[in-house]
Amino acid sequence: MKLVASVEVPATARGFESGLLLDLVAALRQCPEGGLVAVTSSHTDVAENLARWARFTGNTIVRSTTEEGGTRWVVRNGPAPVEPARPIGSRLWLYSNFDCNLACAYCCVRSSPKVERRALDLTLVQQIAGQAREAGVEAVYITGGEPFLRADIDQLAIACAGAAPTTILTNGALFGGKRREALERMPRDRVALQISLDSPTPDRHNLLRGAGTWEKAWTGIRVAREMGFRVRLAATVTTSREEELLGAYFDAEGIDAEDRVIRRIALRGLATDGIALSRADLVPEITVTARGVYWHPVGADDDDFLVTKDVLPLARAIDTVRRAYQAERVHADALAEVFHCA
Ligand code: SF4
Repeated sequence: MKLVASVEVPATARGFESGLLLDLVAALRQCPEGGLVAVTSSHTDVAENLARWARFTGNTIVRSTTEEGGTRWVVRNGPAPVEPARPIGSRLWLYSNFDCNLACAYCCVRSSPKVERRALDLTLVQQIAGQAREAGVEAVYITGGEPFLRADIDQLAIACAGAAPTTILTNGALFGGKRREALERMPRDRVALQISLDSPTPDRHNLLRGAGTWEKAWTGIRVAREMGFRVRLAATVTTSREEELLGAYFDAEGIDAEDRVIRRIALRGLATDGIALSRADLVPEITVTARGVYWHPVGADDDDFLVTKDVLPLARAIDTVRRAYQAERVHADALAEVFHCA
């Protein structure tokens, strides 16, 4: 759905240095604090310049979408709310492993069958789960890579489910044989499965994820449902049109709003196009990998998102991320003070 802005700058081919910045500044002057301004441009320099400008001025890029006249950015006049709606640490992400049976073109953590497993040790996961409730964790997400490549995925899921409702993110292609037996052992009231489905028909999904993967995902969805699991569907899209088509498809399939996730490709990992995201753009969601604690799952393979190598005690790791977030907000506000553009 198109995000409505209070001031819409007409679509242009100009970039920042050929006048778009002046238009944006003028639009922000007409816009109340916290209000939204939209700019659309087909010029190639805008994405990078706008992100840099937003960081320096303390304004916030809320969304970017591909439109007829180029890319449309919606910018909030002012910073993102300092206090996130969801307390930092309430959602805990665990990267069980980084290898994957697929090699998707846009994978934000560069997973594929060829990458090193970098498994999160089962004992460590059990220790994390044992400390999670006291540390304020309300939901756990097991992701990868493909978590079902691990023979002990049932033990990981059972340990996490003992601490909080747990969702496993999967491509759904591996629910046969021993993995089906592992699924059988997971508690249905505490474990949900989030399966990736990128398009209403096989073409786009298979182009990005590999031949036959759309059909396999649907087989996985049916198997999981038959076994009594709550199944959420997650799509990664590039344009507003794809978002609309998937929304209509999920409606037709009877997928509840809370069981669908449609998000944009992040310009991280293997992606060559998408939304550029830095720590400044994201409220942290504690993400544990074999290498340490990261700012957010979308950058869990990138050094700039690594916050600390110390995972335990979990409460201290969460506090470290929380303090880093507060310090970075203060820094951004200070920069906004000395670098006014509007
Ligand atoms: S996007 Fe998911 S399924 Fe695709 S390679 Fe990455 S981890 Fe594997």
